[in-house]
Amino acid sequence: GFLGTIDKAGTFRPAKGCPAWVVPALQKFANNPHHTAQEYGTLTGRCCFCYQRLSTETSLSLGYGPICARNYGLLK
Ligand SMILES: [Zn+2]
Repeated sequence: GFLGTIDKAGTFRPAKGCPAWVVPALQKFANNPHHTAQEYGTLTGRCCFCYQRLSTETSLSLGYGPICARNYGLLK
């Protein structure tokens, strides 16, 4: 479900009904998205955006797969 937004200043703004327990994790992501995504990919083997299994070393090291990279404008 939709949990909230992260503004360009890096502040997480929870949506109505966002469980309080997810706020610290999402604020951590907002504070340092690249590091948090990398950490998540390494720890879980899953994409930080869509939770699909990551199958390549590149995706695992980034924390997201090529489809989400394209969808979120993260391709270099
Ligand atoms: Zn994904």
